[in-house]
Amino acid sequence: MEDASSTTGTVYLVGAGPGDPDLLTLRAARLVMQAGLIVHDGLVSEEILAMAGPKARLVSVAKRRSRHTMVQDAINALLVREALAGKDVVRLKGGDPFIFGRGGEEAEACRSAGVPVEIVPGITSALGAAAAAQIPLTHRANASIVSFVAGQCKGLTEQDWSGLAGKGRTLVIYMGLSAAPQIADKLIADGLSPEMPVAVIENATSKAMRVLRTPIAGLADLVERERVKSPALIVVGEVVGEPEHDLRAFALEFAE
Ligand code: SAH
Repeated sequence: MEDASSTTGTVYLVGAGPGDPDLLTLRAARLVMQAGLIVHDGLVSEEILAMAGPKARLVSVAKRRSRHTMVQDAINALLVREALAGKDVVRLKGGDPFIFGRGGEEAEACRSAGVPVEIVPGITSALGAAAAAQIPLTHRANASIVSFVAGQCKGLTEQDWSGLAGKGRTLVIYMGLSAAPQIADKLIADGLSPEMPVAVIENATSKAMRVLRTPIAGLADLVERERVKSPALIVVGEVVGEPEHDLRAFALEFAE
């Protein structure tokens, strides 16, 4: 029998960051440039895919929300099949593979098939978006807790967000666009002030980025009026500030 370790390829679960190629880690950039096979999401930007070598095979596994489960099984099977056939696979995902990226499931599928897997972290979109929009997710003046939640995963009603939004805390909602009206209602019903500032950050770190602000009571209207499109994040908390708000004023007040 052949030694499995000499014939089996490795699956690299690689975070591609929020879009701007300059936000790739060096390890991710090297893997992309050297890859023979790249299996990528719809969220990975064209500029990053263009870094692949001329001989690389690029496979898109962009998925539609309604067909999630079946497609995920097919993705897992593809990664395992290619690795068992001896190929190294660069599995490129938007942001970080372990933040709402189903990287955990793909890693498990590889491990249970005896395929070696390595995780390369990426800048998750919350961090990329916050930096690009200059919204500090924590701030000594008004946020000492930050939470990342999924606005879509397994249905909104099953999510318990109590205590995650409000004074002194920042809530970042991934995949929240289509449920934005229900999200605003849910948070206000849980006691959040209707005046709490919210930012919607669309296409963070790309040239098409938009940062839109509103009190949470106006979130549904804003999303509809501005025709906000996916990918977008919703940031809820005082750190968002008013459009012209200068956070340094808070800091000075606090220091006195
Ligand atoms: N693993 C990814 C998240 C995948 S879930 C990460 O770490 O960022 C997909 C969601 O991520 C989108 O619905 C959106 O809420 C968010 N997202 C990803 N890229 C984004 C971008 N460039 N701008 C705004 N939101 C983004």
